[in-house]
Amino acid sequence: MPAAAIHKLTGSQHVAPYLSDYDAACRAFTWESARAQLAGLPGGGLNMGYEALDRQVAAGRGACVAARFIDRQWRHSDLTYADLLESCSRFGNLLQSLGVARGECVATLLGRSPELFTVVLGTVRAGRVCSSLFFAFGPEPLKTRLQLGRARVLVTSDELYRRKVAPIRAALPDLQHVLLVREANAGELPAGTADLAQLLGASGAQCAPAPTRDAEVALLHFTSGTTGKPKGVTLTHAAVIAQHATAKLVLDLHPQETYWCTADPGWVTGIAYGVIGPLTRGARMIIDREEFEPQRWYRILAEERVNVWYTAPTAIRMLMKAGTALARARSYPELRLMLSVGEPLNAEAVLWGTEVFGIPFHDTWWQTESGAIMIANFYACDVLPGAMGRAIPGVEIRVVRRGAGGRLEVIESPEEVGEIALRPGWPSMFSAYLGDEQRYRAAFIDGWYLAGDLARRDRAGYFWFVGRADDVIKSAGHLISPFEIESCLMSHAAVAQVGVIGVPDPIAGQAVKAFVELKDGVAQSEELRRSLMAHARRLLGAAVAPREIAFSAALPRTRSGKIMRRLLRARELGLPEGDLSTLEAGT
Ligand code: ATP
Ligand code: MG
Repeated sequence: MPAAAIHKLTGSQHVAPYLSDYDAACRAFTWESARAQLAGLPGGGLNMGYEALDRQVAAGRGACVAARFIDRQWRHSDLTYADLLESCSRFGNLLQSLGVARGECVATLLGRSPELFTVVLGTVRAGRVCSSLFFAFGPEPLKTRLQLGRARVLVTSDELYRRKVAPIRAALPDLQHVLLVREANAGELPAGTADLAQLLGASGAQCAPAPTRDAEVALLHFTSGTTGKPKGVTLTHAAVIAQHATAKLVLDLHPQETYWCTADPGWVTGIAYGVIGPLTRGARMIIDREEFEPQRWYRILAEERVNVWYTAPTAIRMLMKAGTALARARSYPELRLMLSVGEPLNAEAVLWGTEVFGIPFHDTWWQTESGAIMIANFYACDVLPGAMGRAIPGVEIRVVRRGAGGRLEVIESPEEVGEIALRPGWPSMFSAYLGDEQRYRAAFIDGWYLAGDLARRDRAGYFWFVGRADDVIKSAGHLISPFEIESCLMSHAAVAQVGVIGVPDPIAGQAVKAFVELKDGVAQSEELRRSLMAHARRLLGAAVAPREIAFSAALPRTRSGKIMRRLLRARELGLPEGDLSTLEAGT
């Protein structure tokens, strides 16, 4: 039984939402008008960096804070839009003087720092391609990514360089420049590197944006590696059209509102909604330089008066695990919108938001390949706990099946599960899987892009996630959704996180096995296992409930926070573990 809809616009709203009538917004929307809301380059092209910075400065927001960084000691440093425009201009001049050509790749391996923003924005503004790599990657995953992108420049720190890059440098013939962000007393420069600050200081502070076209590549992202080897995905400058439109219609970001995206810029969310989208909206971003810690996060939400908060299910579940009392120790009167992405968001978590903050979490669905949010629970619309939401205006999204003759058919029945399919033509759609043209072509069938996720679509157009195509369990002729079973177990008071897989069964084909991580302070016991089993049978029925429940101290997760069911499966069945480059240490 799905939880009841949470009706919005019944409480006090701080600001008028940009989207209040979903159907009307869909009817009125065109991508041409979305593009027209951006400035475009004087000569007619489009450039992400220009839209994020120059346009804001031209609109009189130069002195406004673009990003506030908070460090471990709770020290704050603010960068204004004008500051960022200047440092990005210097970086553009620097790339020119280093002889880095248009379209060549500049990679970053940096913690969340002002320099990271300078390099990402400065690179795309200068018409080079930026690949922002997650700072916790080890040498091997770095090597494959830097090789695939043929990076010419890498910006990193002394420490990361010594530990991770120096050992693989010989295998990177394309990498000509390594620029270091240095501590005050870092000592001698390692051989083959240069000091970024020094070079920026010597570069001119004025630099025109590159005259990029809509279809020119701006970003190279790597997927999370949840289902296999991470893929290199390219996005073009046109992605800014969809990122700006969704930052407006889904994040409902108003100029100078305080906004916190907890995703690291090493992942697509951390760039699309942690750098580009919010800056094109003129927002004031909070950037926490530290790692997740419940008390710290509540302090940021309260003391920084965050208005809009974009986070992920793993973090929400960890906050839930830390207990409601901790959340209630502070108040958050300015917080008006909380959103989630990256993994299925259980109804339990949506309702917990309502209980603790007085507002629900709004789930959103998208992927690296889509380049922007595609499905959302909109701010002013009813939230259906457990549903991902509805298609954003401008994109046709349906669930499809393979019909007779192998052709794709759109599923009309709200009960039937199918694969999520998007009609190509939205501006942030990926332009390639780098180095894998065949895989790219294979993702498009009969005029649809197939996302590789299974869902149902109800009569009102809300999508209900079922599972990744690779994770879905087939048992005794039934299609079983791991998400449904995980959500059910999550509703038990002792449970913090769950991962569900199918294991071979001689009769049913596959049987369901659940791995359960318990809340802090809850001890494993046979009695608890029986209680979980009974809970699942009661809610799901014996045919669907797990046959086996195992306790796990820490479920294997990607560094971007997704449960790696493929690894649970491989470990369970003694199969090769596959690519582990994105596995979170200790899980
Ligand atoms: P890989 O493609 O390498 O296996 P990945 O698919 O996890 O990794 P991303 O592009 O970061 O890499 O993640 C997109 C995927 O995350 C989606 O295809 C979907 O499976 C999952 N996802 C994102 N948002 C949601 C959501 N709201 N509900 C359920 N699943 C989601
Ligand atoms: Mg994927």
